[in-house]
Amino acid sequence: MDKLEKAVDQMSKMPEKQRNSLIEMEKKKVCICRRCPSYSECMKDSNEGFFCILGKSDCKINVDTCMCTGCPAYQSFKLKNDFYCVAGSEMNLRG
Ligand code: SF4
Ligand code: SF4
Repeated sequence: MDKLEKAVDQMSKMPEKQRNSLIEMEKKKVCICRRCPSYSECMKDSNEGFFCILGKSDCKINVDTCMCTGCPAYQSFKLKNDFYCVAGSEMNLRG
């Protein structure tokens, strides 16, 4: 299991409240989607983010560019893909 797989596994075993507060913290402190030109009002209103782990956005998106490769989580989890808000989570993209 690599670091990403371990983190996803640990998150899946957490009580819901703990998992939700971790997700909120990651969205605020790590995820840089909010600074991305593709991040829409709809995504903002729905407090979306952390798509590399959580998967696709529920919003309709006009994808412009993706800033994921510059995100600390990208390096830390050795992510390989991008445009997670439209493409889905890293784990899903790995297949
Ligand atoms: S890699 Fe992309 S989706 Fe994942 S936390 Fe960073 S900016 Fe957000
Ligand atoms: S996943 Fe990539 S394209 Fe989508 S909002 Fe985040 S940084 Fe932008």
